[in-house]
Amino acid sequence: MAERFKAAVLKTVDPHGSGGSNPSLSANPYHFQVIRMTVTTHKETLGFQTEVRQLLDLVIHSLYSNKEIFLRELISNASDACDKLRFEALSDDALFEGDSDLGIEIRFDKAARTIRVRDNGIGMSRAEVIEHIGTIAKSGTREFFSKLTGDQAKDSRLIGQFGVGFYSAFIVADKVTLLTRRAGLTPGHGVRWESSGEGDYSIETIERAARGTEIILQLRQGMDEFLDDYRLREIVRKYSDHIALPIRMPKADGKEDETVNRASALWARPKNEITADEHNEFYKHIAHDFEPPLAHLHARVEGKQEYIALLYVPARAPFDLWDRSGRRGVKLYVRRVFIMDDAEQLLPPYLRFVRGVVDSADLPLNISREILQESRDIEAIRAGCTKRILDLLDDMAEKEADKYMTVWREFGSVLKEGVIDDQANRERIAKLLRFASTYADTEICDVSLAAYVSRMKQDQKAIYYLTAPTFATARSSPQLEAFRQRGIEVLLLSERVDEWLVMHLHEFDAKPLQSAAKGTFDISASADAAETTRLAAQAEKLAPLVARVKGSLGERVQDVRLSARLTDSPSCLVYDEHALGGNLERILKAAGQKAPASKPILELNADHPLVVRLDGEGDDARFERVAMLLFDQAQLVEGTLPEDPAAFVRRMNETLLGV
Ligand code: ADP
Ligand code: MG
Repeated sequence: MAERFKAAVLKTVDPHGSGGSNPSLSANPYHFQVIRMTVTTHKETLGFQTEVRQLLDLVIHSLYSNKEIFLRELISNASDACDKLRFEALSDDALFEGDSDLGIEIRFDKAARTIRVRDNGIGMSRAEVIEHIGTIAKSGTREFFSKLTGDQAKDSRLIGQFGVGFYSAFIVADKVTLLTRRAGLTPGHGVRWESSGEGDYSIETIERAARGTEIILQLRQGMDEFLDDYRLREIVRKYSDHIALPIRMPKADGKEDETVNRASALWARPKNEITADEHNEFYKHIAHDFEPPLAHLHARVEGKQEYIALLYVPARAPFDLWDRSGRRGVKLYVRRVFIMDDAEQLLPPYLRFVRGVVDSADLPLNISREILQESRDIEAIRAGCTKRILDLLDDMAEKEADKYMTVWREFGSVLKEGVIDDQANRERIAKLLRFASTYADTEICDVSLAAYVSRMKQDQKAIYYLTAPTFATARSSPQLEAFRQRGIEVLLLSERVDEWLVMHLHEFDAKPLQSAAKGTFDISASADAAETTRLAAQAEKLAPLVARVKGSLGERVQDVRLSARLTDSPSCLVYDEHALGGNLERILKAAGQKAPASKPILELNADHPLVVRLDGEGDDARFERVAMLLFDQAQLVEGTLPEDPAAFVRRMNETLLGV
């Protein structure tokens, strides 16, 4: 049936069902607001967005034990700002204002108890300061706050994951002043922002000759340890050695500056010279994550396309993972020059959780997103990176199963999209899939298709699965009864994306995938001759009952028949081999889609007392009522509400009353 319809469905219905996407995030993150013509210049005091206040409070209290990271965050922002300038200057050299020697400067003043971090990067306009520093524009903010538990240890992990960034300055400072001017604006468009990190901040337009941003921290009482040259240098080297720009501090004589970090691109260094700590810090910088990654791959590829890929698998899913249009997080460099963030062409959408850097030796420096989309060179890089990530996951699944289970827990539902989207790698991705099944009968998804196949019965021809709205519904589905009785394993699929997955994954290891709730269940292979004869006699005897039930249900069903699937339940619904099935229809309806309705087939359990009693029912009204109830309950166990719930309740009450 309607293959085309099925394909169209994925495009219009979010297969993960967590809501809409956030269009602002899919746009170029460097697409700054057009400066409004009516520029406010006076000093004003503005309140932080409520979420910022909450976050500030949490940051100050829960990250206290790791306060030195404030410097890492400020350096990380300064480095991003320089990357952005370099990128924008590719198309407008004037933005450099004659100074293309980009870098970061750190100074401190013992007497005044201040630390300054200055960059000559892109800077910010007044509107940008308000937008980026006064509000949290990240998607998933609401989810983030709803996840906070009040348990400090747990929450601080979450905060780290959400990314505190700039606000970490308030861990050590009770007053933060930010001076900035955006590249390309005149000195009259400087901005001074100041806050004590409580409810509000002040902002005013100032004269500022220097392009870029300077942040001045007025340290809190008890933070004097940071007013120390040795300590600051140590922190820079610990967290920011990998920053590819020079980070300069005054020499001991106080007159000249010197570079404190290594200031070279980490990915360009030989693989075996990079320590785990260096990888961790680099990853945290590019991924805006607090936790170290789970795994990485570092490849120097030569041949038709020459590039270096340094890619990381995070340990935890970001809050907006479900969003197919969300951030991708692989940065593109060309010969060490930063070109763009989130270069979505570098990896397919189902690997959007991977973070890292690709540095091409061949692409032109002025490459744009539009050109990327059509570039054959990029296609080759994407295929190469995809293959390497799949290799990495494969290897991990084989050698470090526990670690792989973490990947699967966090990113499994996204990886599943690969089966749908990436035909070329479908088989490889199929090997990486993990499901719950009737074998262990727990919700833990750790059964691979290979493990399933290894447990198949000798005469079993298909890999059986059942889709349902929840694991509980799947596990207690009546359709499974005969499978359970015969010890045939069934995979229990309860994620929305699973419906699409099984549409595209037709077989594994030459065994077809077959829904336990579709088509006729063939028991001939496992039934003995006596049983077959008994069933045939039963079918003949009950033929009039089946016809009568069908008459009662009318248009609601496509057919009524005796079941080979049931042992305990009186009835269940099954579907034609090619029908969408009840679960998918429900998903589509909920998404406001018109689904071609496929009528179910009602199967009856000939051995069930209700069915046996119905066969002898003389009262037509009562017969009809019980027939309808058998249909109602078959819908209910599938997770579908009866079409007319009130009528269902009436029927049930009448039956309970013995009318
Ligand atoms: P993130 O770096 O994850 O975006 P931050 O809280 O660290 O979050 O920074 C928020 C935003 O403020 C940045 O995305 C950037 O737009 C802006 N910003 C911060 N520091 C600077 C800086 N030194 N120069 C220019 N923009 C900056
Ligand atoms: Mg930051």
